[in-house]
Order: sequence, then C-alpha cells, then structure tokens
Amino acid sequence: PRSGFCPSNSIFYSKRKPVPLPSSPYLDVTTFLFSRRHSGTIAFIDAASGCRISFRALWRSVTTLASALSSCLSVRKGQVVLLLSPNSIQFPIVSLAVMSLGAVLTTTNPLNTPREIAKQISDSDPILAFATRTLVGKLPRDRDFPIILLGDHRIAGDDARIRYTIEELMAIKPDLRRRRETVRQHNTATLLYSSGTIRTSKGVVATHRNLIAMIQIILNRLKLEEGGGAPETFICTVPMFHIYGLAAFATGLLGSGSTVVILPEFEMGEMIRAIREYGATYLPLVPPILVAMLKEPTPLPLGRLRRVLSGGAPLGREVIEEFRAKYPWVEILQSYGLTESTGMGASTDSAEESSRYGTAGPLSPNTEARIVDPDTGMSLPVNRTGELWIRGPYVMKGYFKNPEATSTVLDSEERWLKTGDLCYIDKDGYLFVVDRLKDLIKYRGHQVAPAELEALLLTHPLITDAAVIPFRNERGGQYPMAYVVRKAGPVGERLSATGVMEFVAEQMARHKRIRKVVFVSAIPKNPSGKILRKDLIKLAASEP
Ligand code: AMP
Repeated sequence: PRSGFCPSNSIFYSKRKPVPLPSSPYLDVTTFLFSRRHSGTIAFIDAASGCRISFRALWRSVTTLASALSSCLSVRKGQVVLLLSPNSIQFPIVSLAVMSLGAVLTTTNPLNTPREIAKQISDSDPILAFATRTLVGKLPRDRDFPIILLGDHRIAGDDARIRYTIEELMAIKPDLRRRRETVRQHNTATLLYSSGTIRTSKGVVATHRNLIAMIQIILNRLKLEEGGGAPETFICTVPMFHIYGLAAFATGLLGSGSTVVILPEFEMGEMIRAIREYGATYLPLVPPILVAMLKEPTPLPLGRLRRVLSGGAPLGREVIEEFRAKYPWVEILQSYGLTESTGMGASTDSAEESSRYGTAGPLSPNTEARIVDPDTGMSLPVNRTGELWIRGPYVMKGYFKNPEATSTVLDSEERWLKTGDLCYIDKDGYLFVVDRLKDLIKYRGHQVAPAELEALLLTHPLITDAAVIPFRNERGGQYPMAYVVRKAGPVGERLSATGVMEFVAEQMARHKRIRKVVFVSAIPKNPSGKILRKDLIKLAASEP
C-alpha cells in the first residue's frame, strides 16, 4: 500500500496501515458486531440508575426485539424506523435490532421542535417510531404509524398510536417461522440527517459496509481491535443520534468488549460523578465540554481517566495546553469527521501526535485525500490550503432521494466526498482544518444550517432580508448570529434584536437559537444573489 503524497496524481494516501474489511457480501452490522471475540462482560451502564447490561443479555435483547419487530409489526428490509430518544441503554438495542433486519434506522435530535421532526418524518417516511414518553408529543399528529414506547408501562391519556411498550413487544413469543431476509453489506443501514455543504437537513444514506468499515477504523485507532488492547471504560455524553455517538458508542465499541457508561446528556456534575464511580478510562467529547472543564474553579477529580478524545469541531492550541497543564496524566486526542463519512476521516492517537497543534491527525486508515483549489479545481500539493476531498469505504452512498444534492458533494465516478472544509495536509501526512467553505455553523457540536434560519427569518412580517453566520467566541467556539434588514419606516423599527431572537427561539431547537442580532440596511450579495458570507464574517469580527 502507498502512503504519503503522490505528485503524479496529487493524491494523499493515509500513512496508517490499512485495516482489513470483511469480504462476504452478506453481512449486517449487528451480525458483524455479534461475531467478534473479546473478553468484556458489561456492555452498558446507565450512569443515572446504575442499571447495567452484560454483552450476553444485550445480544439476547437485540435478537428478541428483532424477531418481535419482524413478526408482530412486519418490519421488512428497506423500511425506515424512527428512533426519537436521548442516550439510553435501549438506544443501542433498538438500533441494532432494526439494522439486523435490514431495516433502516433514522434518528433525530430530541431537542428538535415538532416542526423540525415532522419535516424529517415527511422526508424519510418511517413505518413506525420508537419514542420515550416525554418525546412522544413531538411526533406529528397527522401520521398514523404505530409507536413503541421506550418506557416500562402505559398510562391513561397516552397517545392512542402507542401499540406496545418495548417490554410488551419483547415479551411476545415471536413467530419463528417467519424467515429473516438476507442483508447485504451494500444495503442501507442508517439515515442520519445532516445539512452537509448546502442548504438544509438531508438524509445521509450509509450502508452496512460504511458502518462496518468505520467501526473497524475506530477500533483500530483506539487500539481495541481483536487481540489488541484490554477493553476500556468509556463515558458517553455525546449524542447517539449523531454519527459520532452512533458509530462509536451505540455500536462500534461493542466489538471491543469495552463498557460504555451512558449519560442521557452532558451535565458536568453527573459526568464527573460517573467518571469516578465507574472508573472510566476514556472520555470522548466535543470541544465546548473540554472548555467547560477548564472553567471549573478547582481541578476536577478525574479518577482513573487516561484519555480524552475531542471531535466534531476544532480544538485550539490554548485549550490543549491549558488542559495538559491541569491534567498532565490525561492524553488529549483529536478526530475529524462528518456524518457523510460515517465518522472519523482523520485522528491522532497519541499525545505526541496531538501536540502538532491545530492538527486533526493523520488521515484514517483506508483513506485517500485530495486538496482542491476551490477557484480553479486544481489539486494542490503538501502544505497548500484548499477543499478537502476524501475517499474511503465509509463514504456515504448519497443523500436520500436527493440526486441533485448528492452530485454536489459526491463525485459519482471516482467516489470522492467533497467535505466543504478548507484544509491542508503537511509533509508528514497530518491534516489541518483551517476553515469551512460550506455555510455550516457548529454550536456546541450541533449542526446549525444558516439557510434554514434565514428561511425562517424571512417569514417574519417585519424582516425583509437576513443572513446568518457563525460568530466566533474567544475560545474558538461558534454561535449563530444574524444580520437583519427590517421593513422600512417606523413599523420596521418596532422590531428589536430580542424580538428577532424570540421569534427564532419559539420555532427552532435550542442549539439553533440566534444569539446575536445586528440590523443593517442591506445584506451584501454577489451578482447572482448569493450572500457574501465571508464579508459578513469579517464584519462580525469587528463587532463588540
Ligand atoms: P457533522 O456532520 O455534524 O459531524 O459535521 C461535520 C463537520 O464538522 C465537518 O465538515 C467540519 O466542518 C466539522 N468538524 C468535525 N470535526 C472537526 C475537527 N476536528 N476540526 C474542525 N472541524 C471539524
């Protein structure tokens, strides 16, 4: 295998040793995970209740649920199943059961508003939904699909569409005569929603092959392959509905025998308590959590913690240095990836690699890259900045029912994924993410698509034009900021910045709230009407 930059074709080849991928065309991700050998005993622990599930019990639950879904609810290969839940032990059970049938798992952010969820549902067209009692109310009323409640009992007044609780469903003796359909690696496994490089949310079609390849890469990078290191204890605060949580914690790590301690969401006190109580050794997170840890007035008691893995957004040098000074025995690792690449496209695997400040690490195994000048389309060599294109077995099949959007990010002949990130790769093969070419804003690790907020702002009767951009805070984080043109005259002037923020807050999930508003007389645009976002970002840098 080649490694490093090849001047004759301008391709960067990963310097990591390739990982082997299963060759049988008939394989689903659940069976792949089931069949791995390891020495682990406890698969998941629910941090809040202390409830735990062994690997053996987990596989039993997955198989039972899959049989019940197939025989009682006729779930078939290719049909979409929605899962609306915060992180929980049931999350991986449902995900693995659905995928084992060849059905397609679609997840959604529990913070999404009913309107956002309805939009995803009308696009993905699920045949049934799993939801917790607190979230059931967010499912659109006009959809008549069966709902399975992720809770132990029903109560009076529950949604009439609730057909079973998960416990009831699993208690039904399945009709074993019903034959399972054969699942192939190239069949679709998941449909996660991402805004990608353009406009609003789209379903990212990932196959079993994509997920299996990513799991092999994750286990290789964490040194947890079969016959590799001893299982670790992970704390999972990152959301399982997102590819980061789904590929690693809800599925991948099971292949290593590691234990995953699940928190429904991030809360500092709970996270620290769980780290100590369960002797966690590994803490994957997103940069804002690391920043929050540094803001604590006294050093946190981190027990047996040895590694922190930061991903999803860039991590600044100061943050890394400050963390090292405070917790010298904890290694900081970084990774870079996208929903469209089913996760990790690059990562560091030692403190030494992370100390090449600003790097997201060498390209993942089995990965090729090009750096392409966005203006000329020419491939660029070492140390030159351009758009990162990557190619590997984990690159999505495309966007769901959206060939137009697919063709803008996927090169159909050569299978390059155009990431929309401005990057360079140095002479030693380390990737540096410099900026974003695409419009995407990342607020605390969550995706915020400016186009979606702009479309909403334009529905306000007193707004005539608007542009949404990322505003950088002093720690390198971002939040959504809007430039707004009000309706002319005294009527328009009645609209205040708070009014704009409240208008958005009422209709969008918390992470999509506009946190700063500046009124302008016009939005700068190019002759074809495209917002000149870079100019606004520059302008915003001079705002107080
Ligand atoms: P998502 O699909 O939500 O995972 O978002 C993917 C985008 O997050 C990438 O295209 C990058 O813009 C950004 N991103 C992810 N990881 C990193 C990282 N380590 N450094 C900089 N940006 C990152």
